[in-house]
Amino acid sequence: MKKVYLDNNATTMVDPEAYEAMQPFFCEKYGNPNSLHDYGSQISPYLRKAMDQLYDGLGAGDMDDIVITSCATESNNWVLKGIYFDKIVTGEKNHIITTSVEHPAVGHTCSFLERLGVKVTRLDVNSDGLINPDDLKNAIDDKTALVSIMWANNETGAIFPIKELAGIAHERGVLFHTDAVQAVGKIKVNVIDAGVDFLSFSAHKFHGPKGVGGLYIKNSQKLTPLLHGGEHMGGRRSGTLNVPYIVAMGKALDIANKFLTFEDSHVRRLRDKLEDALLEIPDVTVVGKREHRTPNTILASIKGVEGEAMLWDLNKAGIAASTGSACASETLESNPIMEAIGASDDLAHTALRLSLSRFNTEEEIDYAIEEIKKAVVRLRSISSSFAYAPKGYKSGL
Ligand code: PLP
Repeated sequence: MKKVYLDNNATTMVDPEAYEAMQPFFCEKYGNPNSLHDYGSQISPYLRKAMDQLYDGLGAGDMDDIVITSCATESNNWVLKGIYFDKIVTGEKNHIITTSVEHPAVGHTCSFLERLGVKVTRLDVNSDGLINPDDLKNAIDDKTALVSIMWANNETGAIFPIKELAGIAHERGVLFHTDAVQAVGKIKVNVIDAGVDFLSFSAHKFHGPKGVGGLYIKNSQKLTPLLHGGEHMGGRRSGTLNVPYIVAMGKALDIANKFLTFEDSHVRRLRDKLEDALLEIPDVTVVGKREHRTPNTILASIKGVEGEAMLWDLNKAGIAASTGSACASETLESNPIMEAIGASDDLAHTALRLSLSRFNTEEEIDYAIEEIKKAVVRLRSISSSFAYAPKGYKSGL
């Protein structure tokens, strides 16, 4: 059976070169980089190279900090909780602004802070999944400590105008954080050009390993640590450094940035081909305009086809996709992003997210198109919410 992986916004395959790069650091060069003996000190040049790759890859300057974390969930928690300790517990500020479509690593952390008394404003999005920058202007007040807005959405692929939004926050003297997990490696990300104060990233979304990520901190500014301990990373984030993964992350970012043009041409063309084929099916809609989305992402709703049922059929055909919904064993919840963009309950249950990578081939996309069409025919034929057969429906679309 063919196997086609179209769930690259969930995680990606490790690039073989990045995988290769980390191998020596398990059984050969396994010293703790903080140790004073040769086992430790021989690691330094490799770590330095990886850090240089990260600084170059994100466009960071010498005065900035990039601090390694275990994942973007940690980076996001760190920024929000660090600001809480630095500016809110002190009584100086009490307000954080974010959007209604953030990943739970931001959304749930904000809800936790709300329970501690922080005022949180969640900006609504339009049907394309984007906010109105004027809403941000209007939401900022004298007590706003931080604006946290994602660079690209994990479900819709919607790209937020980060430079403009960071500018709005800065005009009012407010710090700006962006969760750039879904942007890094897919579109150009340059922290200095964007003017952000904090940026979260995660290796496993750009063909690096899982369990390693980082936080960019402009001008190495103060941010109370989330993890206290052995003073690693200059005391900013304690915990023994995961050398192999950091080496692989540096390599993966380097490669991903070299492939950005390819991402914008080859991956975009395959995505558009898949999207065009989906839109040929009656009663299918796709969220957001293509030019405002990352080149690899489609969030479609297929009337009458429950997202989970579609995933089941596709999985049987060897195709991995996602509904993006919180799927518990007993209750099937609808996709929260579909709800945030104002989709009806019916449509919110029919979300199908397809996310490509540079490793997908034309043959794979042709196969996926064929299998998706077959699944739509089968599932609509047994769907109680899709009681009528549109023209051409029985003929296999
Ligand atoms: N932010 C966004 C936008 C994501 O898509 C994800 C992962 O899906 C995360 C944060 C969490 O990243 P990690 O898996 O590194 O914790």
